[in-house]
Amino acid sequence: MHIYWASVLAIPKGIILDIQNLIRGFLWCNGDYKRGKAKVAWVDNCLPLSEGGLGLRSLEVFNKALGGPYGIPIKADVSWGWRKLLQLRDRVRPHMWFKIGNGEATSIWFDYWCDYCPLSRFLSPREISNAGYDTCSKVSDLMVHNAWNWPSSWLIKAPELGLVPTPSIQMDTSDVLQWRDSNGSISEFSVKKVWEAIRPRGEEVDWYRMVWFSHCVPRHAFLLWLVMRNSLKTQDRLKQWDVGINTDLNLLRCSLCDLQADSREHLFFECSYSTQVWATVRRLASMDNVPPVLQNIVLYLQPMAHKRTAKSIIGKILLAAAIYFIWIERNNRLFKDIKKNPEELCDMIMITELILLMVSLSCSDLDRLEGSGVASCSYGAPPDCVAISMPKCLSGLHLLMYSASYVWLADIAAWKFFKANWDVS
Ligand SMILES: [Zn+2]
Repeated sequence: MHIYWASVLAIPKGIILDIQNLIRGFLWCNGDYKRGKAKVAWVDNCLPLSEGGLGLRSLEVFNKALGGPYGIPIKADVSWGWRKLLQLRDRVRPHMWFKIGNGEATSIWFDYWCDYCPLSRFLSPREISNAGYDTCSKVSDLMVHNAWNWPSSWLIKAPELGLVPTPSIQMDTSDVLQWRDSNGSISEFSVKKVWEAIRPRGEEVDWYRMVWFSHCVPRHAFLLWLVMRNSLKTQDRLKQWDVGINTDLNLLRCSLCDLQADSREHLFFECSYSTQVWATVRRLASMDNVPPVLQNIVLYLQPMAHKRTAKSIIGKILLAAAIYFIWIERNNRLFKDIKKNPEELCDMIMITELILLMVSLSCSDLDRLEGSGVASCSYGAPPDCVAISMPKCLSGLHLLMYSASYVWLADIAAWKFFKANWDVS
């Protein structure tokens, strides 16, 4: 709905802020937004996934991209909203490029149609009118027999005019307005192209495909996104005003091992608790040799992150699930005094992984998984269990789930399968 209004009105800043706060409340506060709760700045949330953002569209910028009246003069008595829309022209005009046909619709002075434009910068309105023209003159007005008809006084004042290329006038074709992006490529106009030209930009990040992919679980991916941005409020990043004057920051201890203050690197997965979890679950993705260090895991997964292979998908789902459950466990211990041992957490991660694979992978994915030869080792089945190949069971459970339409059945079946066939201790 707000996109509709953004396309017909200049939305006041207060309303844009209210809408942003609704989204921020959903993201960070599980309800109404409270100042200081956001872990990532709004402008960074609005960057594309490939630049480390969440791909949200800044309503303020989108409103500008949708406002299209780029050729209308601003008069003194126009409304506030209309004036705001018209004020966007200076920013957008260099991208509005005319393809000259008969030259009758393109302003010779103010429109962009060659690299010397706008030509108004070379001459004053008085110099233009002294030569018998005016500021409303079109390209066709200055051409005679397909050649420029520049007055000699103009060429003395502005020799650059002599360098302006002569457009090929075609009397039976109208001028066409096109979009020219910042790389100089010209194409049909669209709101998407305006958005690309004026949106805020960030540095491209190389980990985004590892976080966001078609089979990812949004809440796991969101947490992994925060981890990759190092935006989680771990104990090493807390300031005194975060915890109050009665808490000594030096006494904070990791709730999983109680040995030191926790940090991103410590929790994932250098803490003795997390190391134990990772050492068990990594077998699911054939990552037995990948040490419990986040940087090493990222280095292993990143090169294959763009592929739709079983190895890549399983590895990415596993990393996100492991991080998610360890973070939940850390918070449960800190704030609810509820504890699970590493074995219980491993079971949860592995069952989640299996359920996710069954729910998200299509039958063709499963067939490929089965045929790839990756699965039997990916799932970490001990050598004597290889014969009971995981893919067969997966396919079976998959079909069971589809035919019965009960995830719960698959859940129980998965649990029994794990307990019966996997040495997870
Ligand atoms: Zn620890």
